[in-house]
Amino acid sequence: MIPAPFDYVRPTTLDEAIRLLAANGDEAKLLAGGHSLLPLVKLRLANPKILIDLSRISGLSGIRQEGDQIIIGALTTHYEIESSELLKQACPLLPETARMIGDVQVRNRGTIGGSLAHADPAADLPAAILALGAELRLTGSDDERWIKGEDFFLDLMTTVLKPTEIITEIRVPVLSGRFGTAYLKMPQKASGFAIVGVAVWIKVEDKACTAIGVGVTGLGAKPFRAKEVEKKLWGKRIDHTFIDADASHVDHGIDPLDDIHASAPFRAHLARVYTHRAIQEAVKRAGVSMPSR
Ligand SMILES: Cc1cc2nc3c(=O)[nH]c(=O)nc-3n(C[C@H](O)[C@H](O)[C@H](O)COP(=O)(O)OP(=O)(O)OC[C@H]3O[C@@H](n4cnc5c(N)ncnc54)[C@H](O)[C@@H]3O)c2cc1C
Repeated sequence: MIPAPFDYVRPTTLDEAIRLLAANGDEAKLLAGGHSLLPLVKLRLANPKILIDLSRISGLSGIRQEGDQIIIGALTTHYEIESSELLKQACPLLPETARMIGDVQVRNRGTIGGSLAHADPAADLPAAILALGAELRLTGSDDERWIKGEDFFLDLMTTVLKPTEIITEIRVPVLSGRFGTAYLKMPQKASGFAIVGVAVWIKVEDKACTAIGVGVTGLGAKPFRAKEVEKKLWGKRIDHTFIDADASHVDHGIDPLDDIHASAPFRAHLARVYTHRAIQEAVKRAGVSMPSR
């Protein structure tokens, strides 16, 4: 558990961090909360020559509303998301999801940017980011781009981030009208990571689903948006029959992970059960009462 030697720098501006990143390329690693990176460095699974600590860069954390969007700085901690009154009102799926991450120490240090960049297939926030149709701002030395959450994750712990880019912000829509959200997961007992986790937001008008987002983590090598389920539910009248039938499409086209925590068939089963429950809970929170079976 002794890391290989590395240099440590703590820039105070984003420009300086980007310059350092561009100058050191693959040899450099950004450090945010350190809760995923430092264990890897200690185990020598990651051997950066230089760590660029983002923690002193002002403007990279905080949560603010701009029109119908909420902008979250990449260094915003899970605890800050969990306790944000603005998010609780305007986008409650994120606080609900952040509250279920690890334990209080992890939530006090871990950041949304670090969680998304790390792209652990069992991380919680990606499910909510995907369900909400959030976008990430990636800032590099030459350019800056906004990318949709669903285009960000490529594979197991792999994203579209270039070695010279930093996630600087995440934007999510202010939810309005009659809506409900829910994040449910089967946690791995020791760490809290999701064996399967499902995030849902649903908009309801006249007892029909007029918009829906379903994000899934833990099931496959990367988090994904369950488009098959969304397609089936969109525009339909809400009742038990359609939720039962349509949630079963969640593992469509997915190769489920198979490890010591859960076999592939069990994970697929969990995904269907949790998708069903998360949709039902979101519908309930939207104030729609369904007739008992
Ligand atoms: C005991 C334990 C339990 C945990 N349980 C859970 C859980 O239940 N659910 C869950 O989702 N997570 C869990 N985590 C992970 C936790 O949420 C981490 O905080 C998160 O995965 C990484 O965030 P970080 O800020 O610590 O990133 P770091 O560890 O600092 O960085 C992680 C990676 O992201 C890169 N990076 C960081 N910030 C940026 C940025 N702004 N732009 C580009 N790249 C960046 C780093 O270079 C590094 O490669 C757990 C961690 C521990 C130690």
